[in-house]
Parts: sequence; structure tokens; C-alpha cells
Amino acid sequence: MNTPKVKACPICKKPRSQEFAPFCSARCKDRDLARWFNDSYTVPGERVNPEDIAQED
Ligand SMILES: [Zn+2]
Repeated sequence: MNTPKVKACPICKKPRSQEFAPFCSARCKDRDLARWFNDSYTVPGERVNPEDIAQED
């Protein structure tokens, strides 16, 4: 089995940087954080307040 010496950034697959491990850059680190942030936002059963809808009419 071929084991790479440098592990790849999980976001863009470039060689990771020690400074930003396990990512290659601060940008990829931010992208990963944003991904988790978005996942936490997708709440099943979107809550809609009926009073808010009534006020728009
Ligand atoms: Zn990257």
C-alpha cells in the first residue's frame, strides 16, 4: 500500500501546512468551519411562527 509522506488537505487536497494542520491554509480552515456551521443550521422541521406570517398580510 502506498503511504503518502505528506497528508493532503481535506478541503482542496493540497499538501497540508504544519501551521494550519490538518489544512493547507487559513482559507481551507475557514471553509471547513463554515461547512460545519452550515450543517448546524439545517434544522429538521423548520420552525415558522404563524403570527409572523399573519403580520405580513
Ligand atoms: Zn487546502
